[in-house]
Amino acid sequence: MTRLILPLLLVATAGLAADMPAVVTHDATITFDVDSHTVTIVDRVDPGDAGAVQLDAGLTPGGDRGELASESREIDAAGELAYVFTAHQPTDEVQFSRERVGGEITATVGPEGIYLSSGVAWLATVEEAMHAGSFTIDTPAGWYPVMSGRLVAQEENGGRWRTTYEIAAEAPVDGISLVANTYAVTERDHDGVTMRICLLEPDERLRETYLERTAFYLDLYGEMIGPYPYDAFTTVENWFPTGYGMPGWTLLGAQVIRLPFIPYTSFGHEIAHNWWGNSVFVDPGEGNWCEGLTVYCADYEYKRLEGEDQAREYRRNQLKDYAAYVGGHPERDFALREFKARHSGATRAVGYGKSMAIWRMLEVELGRETVLAALQRVYRDFRGKPAAWSDFFAALEAASGRDLMAFKAQWIDRTGAPTITLGEADVRGEAVVFTLHQEGDPYDLHVPVRIATTTGAVDELVRLDAAEKTFRVTAPGATAISVDPDFDVFRHLHASEIEPTLSRVLAAEEWTFAAPTDDLEFQPLAEAFAAAFCECDAPRFTGHGKPEPGGTNVIINPPYEVLMEYAPEEFALEGPIATVAGEEYSVGSFDIVFAADSPHGTTDLIVMVGDPRRLPGYGRRLPHYGKYSYLVFPVEGGRPVRGNWMPRGGPLHAELLP
Ligand SMILES: [Zn+2]
Repeated sequence: MTRLILPLLLVATAGLAADMPAVVTHDATITFDVDSHTVTIVDRVDPGDAGAVQLDAGLTPGGDRGELASESREIDAAGELAYVFTAHQPTDEVQFSRERVGGEITATVGPEGIYLSSGVAWLATVEEAMHAGSFTIDTPAGWYPVMSGRLVAQEENGGRWRTTYEIAAEAPVDGISLVANTYAVTERDHDGVTMRICLLEPDERLRETYLERTAFYLDLYGEMIGPYPYDAFTTVENWFPTGYGMPGWTLLGAQVIRLPFIPYTSFGHEIAHNWWGNSVFVDPGEGNWCEGLTVYCADYEYKRLEGEDQAREYRRNQLKDYAAYVGGHPERDFALREFKARHSGATRAVGYGKSMAIWRMLEVELGRETVLAALQRVYRDFRGKPAAWSDFFAALEAASGRDLMAFKAQWIDRTGAPTITLGEADVRGEAVVFTLHQEGDPYDLHVPVRIATTTGAVDELVRLDAAEKTFRVTAPGATAISVDPDFDVFRHLHASEIEPTLSRVLAAEEWTFAAPTDDLEFQPLAEAFAAAFCECDAPRFTGHGKPEPGGTNVIINPPYEVLMEYAPEEFALEGPIATVAGEEYSVGSFDIVFAADSPHGTTDLIVMVGDPRRLPGYGRRLPHYGKYSYLVFPVEGGRPVRGNWMPRGGPLHAELLP
């Protein structure tokens, strides 16, 4: 973004701590004329120690942003800035996508709504500045504006509303976004915090769901981290697709806000950012710690609250992500201290996944109470200030009394992850003696080990700080040993620990389709299936109904002997009865789809369908079920039964002979 630099107040630089961002203080009146798409701003600006402020170059006459052309601007001796600009970016073309929602809209004012993003300098700013002050927003009556800060006044006068927000100098925000619309607004008090929801049309079910979830998250984080930093939290519906979190509010597009999982996942993640990111800022010197910690406090925490199995599966999925996006591509890997933002599967697997896993490893080594005590201390000491990984580790050392510098160095400064293998494992009398190996420059690891015995499981945490180390654990009646059975250590998974899933088939991007060749009715329906599955015009068919080695195959109604070559342990077919993960299904009443390892090393897809007329529909549906190994569709319609094959265990598991 190009920004114009305006000389304003020249103030001698005082002894401000170098790591404290500048705070620009405003006393602004912002007036909207929606019919002419015009914004008039009069702002008394105090840029603090900065000598000059900037406005977006698009706000100047003749600026390069066609829709954002300023008409006038004056600066007087008292530091008052007055300017007018028009903005009307078209919002009806904005597409909904999971990765980039509404990213291209930065400023638009019209009868359909008002939106100004902090991504454009529509208020005077300086490099990396924080903002505080008083903001009076003048809108047509009935137009309710939302921005960060405390709503201190709202009055009607001559068909206009004047709404004033204040942002305290002690709790500045890193950018100011503003939205306004003719909202149906509901406010409710929750232990002194105002919960607010602004919907484009009244919707009781949506309103109650979001208010209930807001209360839940405020309580959860109040307990886990510390008091909520603002006086209100506002959920705002947007007329074009967005999914943004701002200090004290979130802006969700009309489609996003209605997705049934959002209130239980991303919504909580955005609320957690009010503690991590909006209150404690990221000191970028040692990388962006904020996303991993927010995932730990939000996405992962919600799974933990569901149960141990869900939490374990979440950790395993993070490792599968790392294996998929980084494992075979070491050139994509990087140390966490280099992480800035996610822009790919690999940056997500490290910046979010590995970063979150560090908090889990600390939990296993130090205990959850110690980790939470450290988080509470950082939140208390760094509110309104930037913090770095070092600050978190200082708090963790204080809370645990342990030296964690080696831990920090190997996980924050070092690229990569360990690969752990179980070597010899034997029963010697009452004990199990086993050897663990790791590849490359050894990590210092605390590795959970579970020994199954005739009377139950024995869990032990062993310290592996060398390339090879032998341990003895007392466990009478031992029958089997599993290393890191709950995926607590951030490490490279072995291939045999990753079960086949549809997403591994989908990741191939090129497929060979095989379908019965002796049935003339079948072929065009199989082609329609294939075209929908690959989103391509000319899918490739083998011509003989059997898979081809070397590529990724999608095999429709394979001959019995081919099916048996693929069948995982949890699949069987006897006459008209298929057994899938312990459940029996009549093949006349169910269609079955599953991913399986092929004899030639790829992950292929098997599709077993009774009536081929259902095939084209499956071609469209299957890509939505990527994370599963198998799907069992009732032929009369409805949601499929779905699940994952058990990974085969591999080099971290051994049966023990007495
Ligand atoms: Zn986030």
